Amino acid sequence: MGAPPDKVARRAAELARTLTEHSRAYYVDDDPSVSDAEYDRLFEQLEAIEADYPALITPDSPTQRVGAPPSDKFESVDHATPMLSLGNCFDDDELAEFDRRARDAVGGRQLTYCAEPKFDGTALNLRYEAGLLTMATTRGDGITGENITPNARTIRNLPLRLLCDDPPAFIEIRGEAVLARSKFEALNKRLSDDGHKPFVNPRNAAAGSLRQLDSKITAQRPLAFMAYGIGRVDGAPVPDSLYAQLRQLADWGFSISEHVRPVEGLDGCIDYYQAMAERRARLDIEIDGCVFKVDDAATRSELGYVARAPRWAIARKFPAEETTTTLNSVEFQVGRTGALTPVAKLEPVFVGGVTVSNATLHNMDEIARKDIRVGDIVVVRRAGDVIPEVKEVARRGERTQPIELPAVCPVCASAVERLEGEAVARCTGGLVCAAQRREALKHFASRRALDIEGLGDRQIEAFVDEGLLASPADIFALAEHRAALVEREGYGDKSVTNLLASIEAAKQTTLARFIFALGIREVGETMARDLAEHFGTLDALRAEAAAYLERAERAQRDEPDNRAARERIMTAEGLQAVPGVGSRVAHCIADFFAEARNTEVIEALQAAGVHWPSATTDAGAQPLAGRTFVLTGSMEQLTRDQASARIAALGGRVTSSVSKKTDYVVVGEAPGSKRDKAEKLGVSLLDESAFIALLDDVEP
Ligand code: NAD
Repeated sequence: MGAPPDKVARRAAELARTLTEHSRAYYVDDDPSVSDAEYDRLFEQLEAIEADYPALITPDSPTQRVGAPPSDKFESVDHATPMLSLGNCFDDDELAEFDRRARDAVGGRQLTYCAEPKFDGTALNLRYEAGLLTMATTRGDGITGENITPNARTIRNLPLRLLCDDPPAFIEIRGEAVLARSKFEALNKRLSDDGHKPFVNPRNAAAGSLRQLDSKITAQRPLAFMAYGIGRVDGAPVPDSLYAQLRQLADWGFSISEHVRPVEGLDGCIDYYQAMAERRARLDIEIDGCVFKVDDAATRSELGYVARAPRWAIARKFPAEETTTTLNSVEFQVGRTGALTPVAKLEPVFVGGVTVSNATLHNMDEIARKDIRVGDIVVVRRAGDVIPEVKEVARRGERTQPIELPAVCPVCASAVERLEGEAVARCTGGLVCAAQRREALKHFASRRALDIEGLGDRQIEAFVDEGLLASPADIFALAEHRAALVEREGYGDKSVTNLLASIEAAKQTTLARFIFALGIREVGETMARDLAEHFGTLDALRAEAAAYLERAERAQRDEPDNRAARERIMTAEGLQAVPGVGSRVAHCIADFFAEARNTEVIEALQAAGVHWPSATTDAGAQPLAGRTFVLTGSMEQLTRDQASARIAALGGRVTSSVSKKTDYVVVGEAPGSKRDKAEKLGVSLLDESAFIALLDDVEP
């Protein structure tokens, strides 16, 4: 190409200036002004222009330089050998291109690479003379760094003296100062508690902590040093192989990554990258990619360097987990329990390896806390398999609008309510709301609930839209629509037969799964299991749920001013005696069973044939089947729960109020009005010993 047009030259100069400003904020102030993805995008634009018009490359272009010049807060020190950056690539093709160029230098033979994780921290150069640490510097601009020796000395796992009898006269050890994720969170909490600004990520926290003027502050930050290489060395040989050098560093007392290993050729690099990408989310020290370095010294010196990086190494970066984009609008999604989740509709962006156009905004409190508005430029994060989220506002948009909670449900137009002290707003429509119905059905059929194979989210959505399903019991009536099902697109006789067979099979379940499948708010899988174990039968659980509401009323009436006494009444027995059931959960359970339409759903399911073998007896041994008990007053030998469980195990039912249908009222110490009512209605009364005798009598 010829001389660059003015417009292109101006664009290059502008990019160089912007990048230099961003670099300064990032390296010198440890307070980045844009996301890494945004920086990388601008950097690539400048590289592309310079590739087309090499005349535009200036010696101080960001593409030719490493980092940023040292700050004048610290003494400047020249490195004995330059500390360069690394070339990087974002896909396997670019990695293949790197491998091809490297092999060209050695006649095409396959190369061994030293494969390492790329730590996301800040580079540190350590000088040891006769085995003693004499100087520690930051990378700075690659030629000159900042003297931060007193700070580096505070890093616990950094050897102040090399563990060897015969140390080199002079050696530079290079590595990364990092802050583990777990420590980062604690540090940020401490900073915000003390009214300081928290760091945006562990990398900035590490860099900021290392570049303190007062080493006492650095000492309070739990930094670690991970060694990855050797700079200049005098007075002792070091191994030719980089992998062997790392083993040497480990022998001298440095921490090196446990994931370092030699790999063969391009395939070895690709396999290693994939394995690390899978591990990444579980590592406590953040990594942002893998580094592949030609292992043998002769090939490395053959390959040499370009302006800012060696030709013999490359960083294969993970896709950025965060980037910025515009928040176009907000929609509210209605979940199974009616919770309204604000979902950001974004200008589509590539982040975390996929294109994202929706991200969660969590709830209204989060939106207020982060002060997010429609029209803002926001930071979107997608890490691992986690749902993408809007992390924060990057820049205020030009024309913005506040995000408001709708007054009515966007799906069923029922009122939306937000309880005092709760972050979540809910649609009050219950199963009237098509969205809640759909989600409740998905949950009901899901693997950990009734586990109905062939009835996945997609099928449920379609069946609800077509009017085949409205409530869980309808699932068991699908067999009646066999002809219509076979006609559906993508279905055939065989798939319908399979679906109906798995629905039939799902009728026999366990009590724990059934309780979980009901989708009671706050009742997850473990809680459902605990409730099933504790109460033994659904009836016992229902009776306790009813008793709970009664007790709550009584506690409020008898002890309006004494919270502790109320607590005692509430937690002595019943629902709150189950581990993990606090008053909030107990309320959710009690409210659920108090709701007539939920009882109807349960009864419809049981009528459709859904059942579960009793926890302690087989179906044959239920001598109290059909008998109804009411318990009143306290017993000496049994708690109310134990009594309920024994009745339930024998097939009996425990209910909370006395009626003509009640078979027995068990009367303990200080009975309530239930005893009088029983007498009036002529219901049999049992005292504790008579009750226990009855149980012992009928128990198989
Ligand atoms: P880099 O951080 O991508 O890679 C080079 C560095 O990797 C080395 O200096 C070393 O410290 C480190 N490293 C970690 N593990 C290593 C290992 N096993 N072997 C060798 N080195 C290892 O490059 P860079 O030049 O320091 O910085 C460029 C990056 O910084 C870009 O990706 C850019 O996104 C980011 N940046 C962001 C902003 C911003 O404003 N957000 C500004 C400047 C730079």
